Amino acid sequence: MRWGKWIVFLALLFLPTTVFAQEQLVRVRILQNVPSVRLTFSEPFHLEDPKTGKILREWKSLPWVEVVAGEEGIRIGQLKTNLSAIILQTDTDSYFRVNSQPYRGALILMKTAPDRMMVINRLPLERYLVGALTSETSSTWPIEVLKAHAVVSRTMVAHRIWLRKDQPFDVTADTSTHLYYGVLAERPNTQLAVRQTLGQVLTWEDELFSTTFHANCGGHTEDAFELWEMKKKLPPLEGVEDPYCRGFKHYTWETSMTPAELMAALKEDGARLGAVKAIQILEKNRSGRVRSLRIEGTQSNVVMTGEKFRDLLGFNHLRSLNFTAVLLADKWVFKGFGWGHGVGFCQWGGYGMAMKGMKMDPILQHYFPGAKKRSLKGLPGFETAY
Ligand SMILES: [Zn+2]
Repeated sequence: MRWGKWIVFLALLFLPTTVFAQEQLVRVRILQNVPSVRLTFSEPFHLEDPKTGKILREWKSLPWVEVVAGEEGIRIGQLKTNLSAIILQTDTDSYFRVNSQPYRGALILMKTAPDRMMVINRLPLERYLVGALTSETSSTWPIEVLKAHAVVSRTMVAHRIWLRKDQPFDVTADTSTHLYYGVLAERPNTQLAVRQTLGQVLTWEDELFSTTFHANCGGHTEDAFELWEMKKKLPPLEGVEDPYCRGFKHYTWETSMTPAELMAALKEDGARLGAVKAIQILEKNRSGRVRSLRIEGTQSNVVMTGEKFRDLLGFNHLRSLNFTAVLLADKWVFKGFGWGHGVGFCQWGGYGMAMKGMKMDPILQHYFPGAKKRSLKGLPGFETAY
């Protein structure tokens, strides 16, 4: 009897975490505005109506099926659902293929036009991070930088989950938020990095913030205040000097354009300018990035922000705002430092720090000074996570 009481007591002690904790999910948009997708399920799954939560049909497997956005609703092979949004749910440990690419968890298909739909993969955040991390870095990188990146990615994605709770998805699978190639990108090393940092995020004044990242800052990270519309400065995102990415991939770059190519890239401004005679940098910010410049042409002059100039020339052409422009012979030559907007975590700098033997916490503190590392659980909107 005595032991029986103890067993009941112990069971109650462990119940709250095992029974009430919910695995935090993330919704990743993997395709948009497609008329159809080809799906393969090799293990059991079911069809669910997202509005009612009702399970409408169950399958043991389906070698392949075409799902079409039809006028009257989404069609799964010959099955007409008459629904504008459906969920196809599998067990997290099994996976399914979308146009031959494997994913885990659930697939949400949502009509966006009479014959178009968006395709969203909904899966546990921690499982997503294992694949997402490899998509952004290399699984051969030292474990301490992978752990730092896991915390950075988890924070950024959780911040979006919090901001976008009324939207159909939290992140996209492309570079505009966080690359994600699905199950194929999962690696033992990234799994280890995610497991060793389980649920850990960065906060400032007990709130999540956008811990964005970029390939290489070129020597100084950017102040988020320079690029984003913000009411006030955010100390962990004010930008820091970074000696650790020096000499690594994308630290410097060079590109060139003919005057005709430059004129075409500048669009209406190009037509107004005539042939470009000179490009003068008017102002640089604290991190060395161009705030504004003047372009002198044969017909007129134009003053524009560095950001607009980079947008017109192309983000992958003018790889960063830390650049110089010189006319050499018959070409405009642009030379610069870093690749990306430069705000937040410098991936190659984090790699450089880990190669010097530095651990995850000093890496995070270097790029996000003053930020506090804590568990996601308990933050507003994540009370029951994990
Ligand atoms: Zn850097």
